[in-house]
Amino acid sequence: MKRRSFLSHASLALGAGVTATACSQGPSATGTAKSDEPVRHWKMVTSWPLNFPGLGVGANTLAEMITKLSGGRIVVKVYGGGELVPAFEVFDAVSRGTAELGHSASYYWKGKAPAAQFFAAVPFGMNAQEANGWLYYGGGLELWRELYAPFNLVPFPAGNTEVQMGGWFNKEINSVADLAGLKMRIPGLGGEVLRRAGGTPVSLPGAELFTALQSGTIDATEWVGPYNDLAFGLHKAARYYYYPGWHEPGPTLELMVNKELYEGLPEDLQQIVAVAAQAANLDMASAYVANNYSKLQSLINEHDVQLRRFPNDVMAKLQEISSEVVAEIAETDELSGRIYRSYTEFLAGVSEWHELSERAYYQVRSGDGQSC
Ligand code: CA
Repeated sequence: MKRRSFLSHASLALGAGVTATACSQGPSATGTAKSDEPVRHWKMVTSWPLNFPGLGVGANTLAEMITKLSGGRIVVKVYGGGELVPAFEVFDAVSRGTAELGHSASYYWKGKAPAAQFFAAVPFGMNAQEANGWLYYGGGLELWRELYAPFNLVPFPAGNTEVQMGGWFNKEINSVADLAGLKMRIPGLGGEVLRRAGGTPVSLPGAELFTALQSGTIDATEWVGPYNDLAFGLHKAARYYYYPGWHEPGPTLELMVNKELYEGLPEDLQQIVAVAAQAANLDMASAYVANNYSKLQSLINEHDVQLRRFPNDVMAKLQEISSEVVAEIAETDELSGRIYRSYTEFLAGVSEWHELSERAYYQVRSGDGQSC
């Protein structure tokens, strides 16, 4: 009942905000609507290059929505990774109040709390729509809030890239043995899985990938998918483009709000931030769905990229290692154990349901439905 009530209020707030925006004269004019209330100027630090397609644009969209829905009572300015604070210091910056908001991905904070990774991406885990089901209706968001509360942060899902690509490689991966010694940029749990498979995972912000790959500092890198990877020019630094993105099957991007600040806001502004994050979550996922195919065609037809699918035995080995790596996080502490159990139980149920809904439908749509 509580969650239904929130969504109903959220919808009302969104409707009201849209109306107000359509009738407003812009933030500078509406900022004076409540003369006794000073305009709040907020900084949103991000882990992405400013204005970068998908991720950076998603942060801009979110900032703009908060500004407009609040009628200019909040004015948000977005900073790219490294502008105000380095890309990997977004968490600390928002936690201590250097910035009011942060836009990032929670697996970057595994050094703060290993279980944070469940809220971004789990190898062979949930896809975008499944993750949203867990977060909004399966108890996931409440657990995420509990995990971030001691860091003075309130998290919100605020974007999704959908299933990513496996990455860019300068040599073909034909067997598990080809992973040995492979120095690859791959974040989060996927990185640990690669390490146990014999590789060397490296963590680098997106802006440093092209140079690292071209100079040979790394042998391979994953980033996102065709929409983002084409923008970075990764095809100029590696020949083979592998799929699927086993390590990031639908990563959630996050909005982090300084908790002390959030809790001190009037209720309507709290709702506006929450609703803007929900809208941004849908908006980014839609942008990836709309752009990935055409960018993939461009990579293949205009840039001669060689598309490759990971061999089944490589996937099977990485999946086996993944389940060990993920289960180990449950041992970290009591809360991590609850997060692990909540995630894995939801995944088991939704997997069974999606076998007879999504998967069966894909099969019949592609003319391969006789076997079901
Ligand atoms: Ca990635």
